[in-house]
Amino acid sequence: MTKHVIKTNSSEETTNIAIRLGELVKPGDVLTLEGDLGAGKTTFTKGLAKGMGIRKNVNSPTFTIMKEYRDGRLPLYHMDVYRMENSDEDLGFDEFFEGEGVTVVEWAHLIEEQLPKQRLDIRIYRTEDDARKITFEPIGDKYIGLCKELILNESNSD
Ligand code: ADP
Ligand code: MG
Repeated sequence: MTKHVIKTNSSEETTNIAIRLGELVKPGDVLTLEGDLGAGKTTFTKGLAKGMGIRKNVNSPTFTIMKEYRDGRLPLYHMDVYRMENSDEDLGFDEFFEGEGVTVVEWAHLIEEQLPKQRLDIRIYRTEDDARKITFEPIGDKYIGLCKELILNESNSD
C-alpha cells in the first residue's frame, strides 16, 4: 500500500489534519506516531483528541506510559513509550489495542514486536522551521479506507 504524503507549513495546519483524522477514527483503531523530538507528535495528538471531541488538555505522558481520555466521542489511549527499553516482554498493550477506544503510540518502534499487525503508521519530518512532511502508511488492509478519506478531505478543503 502506498504512503500518502501531506505537507504542512504551521502547527495549525498539522492540527487541522489531525482534527480531521480524529473525526474519522473508529473504535479499536491503532495509530503510531514517529518523528524526532519537536517534530510535532504531541501537536498531532492534541489535534486528534480535539477531532474526537475531547476537551481535556492532552500532553505528553512523560512519567506514565499511557494516559486515557474519556470525555470524547470515543476513549483515547495516548501512549508515549519513549522511555521504554526495547523488549519482547508482553506488557499488556493488547488490552488497549483491542479495546473500544483509539490508541495512539508515540515512539512505537520501541515496542515494534507488540504492535498490532494492522495499524496506521504516521511519520512526521521537520523539513524547515515551520514546515513538516507527514506520511500516512496503512499497515494491512484495515486502514486503507481511512487513509483515502483523510486525503480526500484534505484535497477538498483547499
Ligand atoms: P514532539 O511531540 O514530536 O516532540 P511537539 O508537538 O511537542 O513535538 O512540538 C512540535 C513543535 O513544533 C511545537 O512547538 C509546534 O508549535 C512547532 N511547529 C512548528 N511548525 C509545525 C508544524 N508544521 N507542525 C507541527 N508542529 C509545528
Ligand atoms: Mg511529544
